[in-house]
Amino acid sequence: MSLTAQTYWAEHALLDTGVEPGVVIETAADGRITAVRRGTPAPPPGAVSLRGITLPGLANAHSHAFHRALRGATQAGEGTFWTWREVMYRVADRLTPDNYFALARAAYAEMALAGITSVGEFHYVHHLAGGARYDNPNAMGEALIAAAAEAGIRITLLDTCYLSSGFGAEPDKHQRRFSDGTAERWAERVSALKGDDNTRIGAAVHSVRAVPAEQLGTVAAWAQERDAPLHVHLSEQTAENDACVEAHGFTPTALLAHHGVLGPRTTAVHATHLTPGDIRLLGHSGTGVCMCPTTERDLADGIGPAPALQEAGSPLSLGSDSHAVIDLFEEARAMELNERLRSRTRGHWSSAALLRAASADGHAALGWDGAGSISPGALADFTTVALDSVRTAGPPPALAAETAVFAATNADVRDTVVGGRHIVRDGNHQLVADVAVELARAIAAVRD
Ligand SMILES: [Zn+2]
Repeated sequence: MSLTAQTYWAEHALLDTGVEPGVVIETAADGRITAVRRGTPAPPPGAVSLRGITLPGLANAHSHAFHRALRGATQAGEGTFWTWREVMYRVADRLTPDNYFALARAAYAEMALAGITSVGEFHYVHHLAGGARYDNPNAMGEALIAAAAEAGIRITLLDTCYLSSGFGAEPDKHQRRFSDGTAERWAERVSALKGDDNTRIGAAVHSVRAVPAEQLGTVAAWAQERDAPLHVHLSEQTAENDACVEAHGFTPTALLAHHGVLGPRTTAVHATHLTPGDIRLLGHSGTGVCMCPTTERDLADGIGPAPALQEAGSPLSLGSDSHAVIDLFEEARAMELNERLRSRTRGHWSSAALLRAASADGHAALGWDGAGSISPGALADFTTVALDSVRTAGPPPALAAETAVFAATNADVRDTVVGGRHIVRDGNHQLVADVAVELARAIAAVRD
């Protein structure tokens, strides 16, 4: 996706060894880093200067792009997860390939401005409202792929199998456009999607509510045959756990394990309400867990057992999910700070570990194994956070990682480079002229 080789000079950079001053990053036309040189106090001639702390590009491992249209509306009044879902479905009803492209392009541009270089799009609005297929049955998914390309970030399209309104019940009137009828028909449709340098195709099980147990294996096998990422919403709500135990006599985690859904290519999203046995099943199978703290707190879901999951063997990633905000620094610190409030102890993760969840482990969960490190051979995906804003000025550069995680916001992101291309330059998106205007226009087109 990169056009030419480029040399960048980072005032400070977070390398695998820690924060270093004066780092030259050479990128090649194939979009990878070819050389990293430390101890270069000034930019070499022709180099692009990146002032602040340059971090590996951030990974937003769980997104539903259209939920961006609900910002603000979700927060008015009270309600529960389930009443929020009704509002969300009204927006889903209005989506078309054209208006979803415009909305996703603007939301992904917002992500680029927040330092995000790859997004995991958990995509289930496949068909026409009512359930009929588009002439191109992948019109919606391809709109999302095109949106990410135009916004300049990588996408893993996690094409989602969603067949039932709950444990075998028919989809309701909103959900018909999500359903392919059977997992086999889902697999047939998804097999026609193609990845490229900017795009990976992955699979998702919406939840144990939405895919009948006897069809879970079909989705898992599709992902396994292609060595593709497989994501699943897991135990966000206790009501789902109760209904699953009643229907199957298993917790959702145990049901997924029984049908071959867990494993190192799998990411469980939320994993909020787990038993000790669930934590063992997830950790011992190497299943990753994506925490979405700003959404989980917005929807009053609860706090998932992230430290226990990590200790059991689950890599952790982060996602903005409902896009209450799009700020991976906020997700990262929220994971740590939630745990502090719950445990009344500090220091569950270092800043470097939190950034690893926000970057390398998130990219890996999306199938971008070569991202998340500023080192030769890695994808040339990185982002620069200002250290001279009102939020970040003051701390010494040696504490730049702590400053980024615990004080910076998306507003401090100054530059974003994806595959060697300078997508965000000095806070301005280079491909989408006015992201705020595009967001307002795209959201007005799909709201009541
Ligand atoms: Zn979700």
